[in-house]
Amino acid sequence: MSYLDKQQIEAYVPFQLTDDGKTPLTRAQERMESNNQWHPAQLMGRRWSIGCVALEITQRCNLDCTLCYLSESSEALKDIPLEEVYRRIDMILAHYGPNTDVQVTGGDPTLRKRDELVAIVRRISERGMRPSLLTNGIKATRDMLEELAQAGLVDVAFHVDMTQERKGYATEMELNEIRLEYIERARGLPISVFFNTTAYDGNFHEISDLVKFFVAQSDVVRFVSFQLQADTGRGVLQERGFAITQETVTEKINAATGTKVHFGAIDTGHPHCNRYGMTLVANGNVYDLMDEPGFIADFLDSTAHLTFDRTNRKAVMNTLFDWAVKNPGMLTSGLGWTSKKLWRMKLDLLKAKGKVNKLTFFIHNFMDACHLDKERIDACVFMVATRDGPISMCLHNAKRDQYLLQPIEVKTENKLRFWNPVTGKLQDSLPNKIEVRHTRKTARGRAKQVLDKERAANHKVAGKDAPVQSSLSDVES
Ligand code: SF4
Repeated sequence: MSYLDKQQIEAYVPFQLTDDGKTPLTRAQERMESNNQWHPAQLMGRRWSIGCVALEITQRCNLDCTLCYLSESSEALKDIPLEEVYRRIDMILAHYGPNTDVQVTGGDPTLRKRDELVAIVRRISERGMRPSLLTNGIKATRDMLEELAQAGLVDVAFHVDMTQERKGYATEMELNEIRLEYIERARGLPISVFFNTTAYDGNFHEISDLVKFFVAQSDVVRFVSFQLQADTGRGVLQERGFAITQETVTEKINAATGTKVHFGAIDTGHPHCNRYGMTLVANGNVYDLMDEPGFIADFLDSTAHLTFDRTNRKAVMNTLFDWAVKNPGMLTSGLGWTSKKLWRMKLDLLKAKGKVNKLTFFIHNFMDACHLDKERIDACVFMVATRDGPISMCLHNAKRDQYLLQPIEVKTENKLRFWNPVTGKLQDSLPNKIEVRHTRKTARGRAKQVLDKERAANHKVAGKDAPVQSSLSDVES
């Protein structure tokens, strides 16, 4: 495999809309075809025009993860204007159409002014798309989640893991205390609860135990995403060890669930990027939902046009029932498939009094910034909304500053002005160069390491007992 070199990375630009008369779904299908990823079990281009679009509404964060994807400039940047966020929401709609999953993210999006966060979620929902919140949960109170749910939030994804270095927690299992607290905050709200975990050298031995925890919480938790360690952004840890691959994470999930989860039955974009497995949980036992790949591919193909309300189980069943009545052929094979499943699950169904939960596992294999595979970038299904259009998240992470340190055009009355991300101010002319100078307050991750080294060096030069001098308290980013 050959990786993109620096010039090739520079040459990529955000997707531009052309007036080609094609639907977003057709464009997605063509993209999969041109990257050899179009087949009967490919969801992209069939059910979805894109997997998800990240809308970064702040670059600030209240944590400093050791594998953070943010830029070293992030903490020095002001939140982009609300008008620009709204413009990007419309841009996402124009590119990918209604029902697109829009991940409201950052930094941590809960650090944005609360009324603005709520307005952003409401705007996405009003545009017929599906707002999702990605947060470390620290500021996501029950009260805030309730308000966001009322504004149209569909999912909340809590990111909790040991890379966050939360004080007082020495293992992933100890962090379950926080996960349980978050689960209670969201319990009963009409939103789906997801958990994101970075699978990295420091917690790989705990992945199976963590899966068991999520299975036990599947009455609330619907989606478990493992994101593989990648060297990108300001995080101080670098490439993952050889032990962490899509296959070894799959093995950990299989070992914990006691079943073989068929991750390859359907694809969402490139299989080296994404693995998707769906299960049912009854009486604490896990059953693979996709163990008949042929039937699953037919089912997905014939239901691709349907829209499911993930927050309403009854509505999903009604949608499926209406579809089944109109598709007698699929109904027959569907009944056969369902009865085999029910038979296999019979004892657990009895013990659980018929209560079944759906639990999805997802493995997202982000790429190192210096190891970008062209085929995967071209078939990417996870975009970031930049000023100039959507672009692959892996590509965006490899050159974040290029998109963050850009002036943004703002129309005020009858005048065009330029918003500067470092000052947060509007100016009449285009700024020549936008630069960040770090202070101890804004330095995180790698930039903080540079500052700390310089302080230590100054300390040494000044003599052991001399007070620490920080002659270079600022570092050019
Ligand atoms: S290219 Fe990167 S961001 Fe896009 S789907 Fe693949 S791993 Fe995810």
